[in-house]
Amino acid sequence: MSLSMNNKESKVMITEEMQKKIQAQKVINEQVKAAREACKPTTCIMCGKPLNGGICNSHSVPQMVLKTLTEKGMIYNKNRIADVNYFKGEVGLNQAGTFRIICRECDSNAFKEYEDPEKILQKPDTIMLAEIAIKDVILMLSTRDYEYETYVKMLDEHKILNLPQLMKVNRLDFRDYCSDFNDFMTIATGVSNYGFNVLYWNVLQYVVPIAVQGMFTIYKDMYGEIINDPHDIDENKKIESVHLAIFPYDGKTAITLFSLKKDKSYRIIMHQMNSSSEEEKLRFINYLVFALADNYYMSKSISDEFLNNEYVIKLSREYLEHPNYGMPIIEKKDIKYFSNAPVSPQDLPVIFDEKYALT
Ligand SMILES: [Zn+2]
Repeated sequence: MSLSMNNKESKVMITEEMQKKIQAQKVINEQVKAAREACKPTTCIMCGKPLNGGICNSHSVPQMVLKTLTEKGMIYNKNRIADVNYFKGEVGLNQAGTFRIICRECDSNAFKEYEDPEKILQKPDTIMLAEIAIKDVILMLSTRDYEYETYVKMLDEHKILNLPQLMKVNRLDFRDYCSDFNDFMTIATGVSNYGFNVLYWNVLQYVVPIAVQGMFTIYKDMYGEIINDPHDIDENKKIESVHLAIFPYDGKTAITLFSLKKDKSYRIIMHQMNSSSEEEKLRFINYLVFALADNYYMSKSISDEFLNNEYVIKLSREYLEHPNYGMPIIEKKDIKYFSNAPVSPQDLPVIFDEKYALT
């Protein structure tokens, strides 16, 4: 199943609710709260031990990386770019991409190879890649569970929404992420040596104003040809994801893009990357961040010129290449983000350009 629902889609649902204004919002707030309660795990997803209050507020993007970018403990999230009034565009370090699904022991042991100040700017080995991938997929499992519980709570009251279909896709995603989780664990523990393909790795000699860690599906290759069809409804097909890590740290920035070797759709991207210039590679990764990644954080000193760029905003509001989340115009300012053609990598300013580096 490749029609994955990313956070943009859950946002689409909430945007529909906005039309019914404040009352509906109140109901949703209650439901979200209830959903959060309902999907509180009782055992650690990694070691299986009971959580018994020992649950950890884990960071997806490592804290040491986020701290490179925070100012007075605050950092921008992706909502800052999308220019939507209803969502907070700025969060504190303790809310930046955190999840609560593993125990403290696992949090301090399972990621220590890559969350090492001595290693984070080095080319990651298989174990480090597996650790990054495990954390990415845990975040996805946690997000899908939370979304599912939210749908369950909404079932009775929101008949206009296509909830049963959303719930079905949600569970198929969950199944695929469980399969990824098992693969990554066997790689991390050395049981399997059938690991990852690194599609891109480099260290820039300056601090870029953005940090990213997450997994997502790339639909089109560097030349716009479809490699994963988001409209393919074959339930037997597994989601194929890439992992992107952008870690500004200690005056430099490490960038890694990789995928499971067995996810064959990305072989073409590996070949294209190998025959492209550094500038073309970074331009493509830049597009991936703002088109497909959800879990990114930006310094509050990021250039206004970049933040206010029309194409950056348009792209962050695109859903599967449809403008404005595929929604009709709700707010007056939505009009300026409508367009006939989807945003292309060439339209965008590139956040990795040295002129945007933090000094
Ligand atoms: Zn554990």
